[in-house]
Amino acid sequence: MPRRCEFITLAGGGSAIICHSGPRIVKCAYCNKPHSVLCDFEIATGKTCDKPLCRDHAEHHPEKGDIDYCPEHRAVNI
Ligand SMILES: [Zn+2]
Ligand SMILES: [Zn+2]
Repeated sequence: MPRRCEFITLAGGGSAIICHSGPRIVKCAYCNKPHSVLCDFEIATGKTCDKPLCRDHAEHHPEKGDIDYCPEHRAVNI
């Protein structure tokens, strides 16, 4: 499994090295395909659901083309 490390600067000063294992491919929350969009449903002010979704599971907003919802939030929105 490939590993990648990144050097980050901590908010309070200082730094740290963080290593991740595996490729940085986020899969769709509903299947094994790589995600292409994130759910744009606003769960709180300034905070969106952000569930990773492939094209099959993302649901476009009927009027706003750049807005996508997960199946769960599509049900409450459209
Ligand atoms: Zn999917
Ligand atoms: Zn959602």
